[in-house]
Amino acid sequence: MAVKVDPNLCIGCGTCSTMCPKVFKIDEEGKSSVIDENGDTPENIKAAADACPTRAILIE
Ligand code: SF4
Repeated sequence: MAVKVDPNLCIGCGTCSTMCPKVFKIDEEGKSSVIDENGDTPENIKAAADACPTRAILIE
């Protein structure tokens, strides 16, 4: 499963990194970046994507 964050959409709210801290990390630019797309279950990663207020998380 490929997980990506669109930096143009991410507002750095931290929801995804709180829900899946092994998958998402807020980088030095204040945007979420994927550190390990296998760092959590697909269900939990999908839940984080659904919780993203700007729909910036793309799962393929
Ligand atoms: S939940 Fe969405 S907007 Fe918030 S930090 Fe994660 S990718 Fe960015």
